[in-house]
Amino acid sequence: MKYYYDFHLHSCLSPCGDEDMTPNNIVGMAKLLGLDVIALTDHNTCENCPAVMEVGAREGLCVVPGMELSTSEDIHMVCLFPDLHKALRFSAYVREHTANIQNRPEIYGRQLKMNAADEIIGEESDLLIMASEISVEQAYELVKSFGGFVYPAHIDRDSYSITAVLGDLTPECNHGFAGISYDADEAFLKKMYSVDGVELMQSSDAHYLENMKDAKNTIDLPELTPQAVIDYFAARAK
Ligand SMILES: [Zn+2]
Ligand SMILES: [Zn+2]
Repeated sequence: MKYYYDFHLHSCLSPCGDEDMTPNNIVGMAKLLGLDVIALTDHNTCENCPAVMEVGAREGLCVVPGMELSTSEDIHMVCLFPDLHKALRFSAYVREHTANIQNRPEIYGRQLKMNAADEIIGEESDLLIMASEISVEQAYELVKSFGGFVYPAHIDRDSYSITAVLGDLTPECNHGFAGISYDADEAFLKKMYSVDGVELMQSSDAHYLENMKDAKNTIDLPELTPQAVIDYFAARAK
């Protein structure tokens, strides 16, 4: 069955994510827009996934725990996991492999951890948008070893994308999928990447509620679970 997805969304834990991107607001807006499945992909952390997944379970929205990983080359990668436990283990791993630089909220924004009641339960003090020590070539096997799947984020963008940093989707980093923005020129991208048979995953990369988009893109899954999403990617991976 086909389900409407958005696999690239930020919460108030991302420094650049608006403070209105609370667990309940994200899930509520996703449902309003007609989405069936979303992934929470904050920069270098999965720590707001527990709350968003709890709200999703309560409200009947499938939430895939995820992360937007900054590689050592400052390339953004969308990481998706089959369950919370694996996501949080990966989140801890990334933390151990990233330099600890203090966030400066007045410059970068606050990094708020919330519970399922949208209450602030903590504030992350380390800046979450630092490049990690994980290279783009290591990322695929590493995320796979945590049970997840990873693909390059927003390849149509001029910054923090694999195309901007490396010039193209290199064979080592092309495993059959790539993320594109909602405002990407789809015809151009399809032409550009059809040779490699790359499936383009179009998501909003919303940092503000108003940047979340009406349901448009679908994924064909036998059932609506995070594991089924991972299985979909794994079965088509190159
Ligand atoms: Zn990004
Ligand atoms: Zn993003």
